[in-house]
Amino acid sequence: MSTASDSQRMEKIVSLCKRRGFIFQSSEIYGGLNGLWDYGPLGVELKRNLKNYWWRVMVHERDDVAGMDGSILMNRAVWKASGHEDTFSDPMVDCRSCKARLRADQLVEKKGAKQCPVCGGKDLTEPRSFNLMFKTYVGATEDESSVTYLRPETAQAIFVQFKNILDVSRKKLPFGIAQIGKAFRNEINPRNFTFRSREFEQMELEYFCRAEDGMKLLEYWKEERLKFYENIGIPRSKLHVLTVPDEERAFYSKGTYDIEYDFPFGRQELEGVAYRTDYDLSQHQKASGKSLEYFDEETKQKFIPHVVEPSAGVDRTVLALICEAYSEDQAPDEKGKMETRMVLRFHPRIAPIKCGVFPLLKNNEQLVAKAKEIVDLLRPHMFVFYDEGGAIGRRYRRQDEIGTPFGITVDFETLGEKDSALRDSVTLRERDSMKQERVAIDSLLDVLLPKIY
Ligand code: ATP
Repeated sequence: MSTASDSQRMEKIVSLCKRRGFIFQSSEIYGGLNGLWDYGPLGVELKRNLKNYWWRVMVHERDDVAGMDGSILMNRAVWKASGHEDTFSDPMVDCRSCKARLRADQLVEKKGAKQCPVCGGKDLTEPRSFNLMFKTYVGATEDESSVTYLRPETAQAIFVQFKNILDVSRKKLPFGIAQIGKAFRNEINPRNFTFRSREFEQMELEYFCRAEDGMKLLEYWKEERLKFYENIGIPRSKLHVLTVPDEERAFYSKGTYDIEYDFPFGRQELEGVAYRTDYDLSQHQKASGKSLEYFDEETKQKFIPHVVEPSAGVDRTVLALICEAYSEDQAPDEKGKMETRMVLRFHPRIAPIKCGVFPLLKNNEQLVAKAKEIVDLLRPHMFVFYDEGGAIGRRYRRQDEIGTPFGITVDFETLGEKDSALRDSVTLRERDSMKQERVAIDSLLDVLLPKIY
């Protein structure tokens, strides 16, 4: 259950996202477009760091996964064979009183009667099926023969390229194919900020295996994925594993887990981990007439592999990271008076900016030159932000508010004016504890790199 303070918290998060350039409404100057969002200068960094870390863990640090990047538009036959054209739909209901268009499973039930969650009206249409795929035309003629769809998931590109990737990567079962990319769903009721959008990104792995290993690998990937979220700063206590009940699972799936997170607006899915059996490859083999079998050199057998799919949403995870990081505490201002400090406590690994670099005074050439030297030293390794404007305390606060984990201040001690032993050392401030330590410029990379990796 989300409470009034949860919804206040969410409002603050949405407003911070706009004010500090994480997320804007798409086409805002024209009144926006429902369910579509743009990422600003900080949002795009956060998103990239998340995707890069996923790629590192799921592809680069493993021997058994290869990557790919498929096109968004594909032959319509793909969507026929996968079942999306016929069945990728949600039941839709209209409220005749307030004209709200709703997903049937979002209606509220009071005393056994279904009600509109917007106005409480009971005059509702019968549910009808609404296909969530965006239809478009390829080429100059707009007729049935040129119809296709914006992909509603990235997975199908992996299935239809299975054979090519198997041939070029020469992997043996079990092995996976990973992809990050855009997906589009014409959601009936986009809501909760970016949580349910009409355009979003997915990070998907299709991990192919022998039938007998499917259930075991489903458990393995669930655990791996939980570890991933912990490694980007989402504590295990806020993550929940829902075992999707038989009646809600796709008919071909032998087991599905939803990994959920406690958002301020309630517990909601971040990722699905599903054992999809051999359904997808079998469908495409049947429809295309091309073999998608695997040849086992040891047993000399040919068969269609089974697959386990961890499918995560980039945008939902970014939102979870922001919600988790958002905090307010008390900290002294320049005069020592306590004030409320807004901090995004991002894990340094995913923080948009890793380090702020500040000369104590902007009108002192030596301080400025030294600070710029430090920027040049760090820049090839991390995204840093140079700021010389305003009192140092205010500069720290600005970085706290956008989640920069480290701040480096170049002061007169750096110039060796007070104590020659301190020459070429700086103050390194840590965002959460606000603790400051003296570090030699030469050691900065050694200190910082392991923390942000
Ligand atoms: P939901 O039940 O919330 O609609 P789903 O079960 O249909 O989600 P999947 O088809 O399993 O979602 O897609 C895998 C992942 O893609 C989801 O866990 C989610 O992170 C992301 N995703 C799906 N739909 C959306 C959306 N409309 N907006 C943002 N992310 C989405």
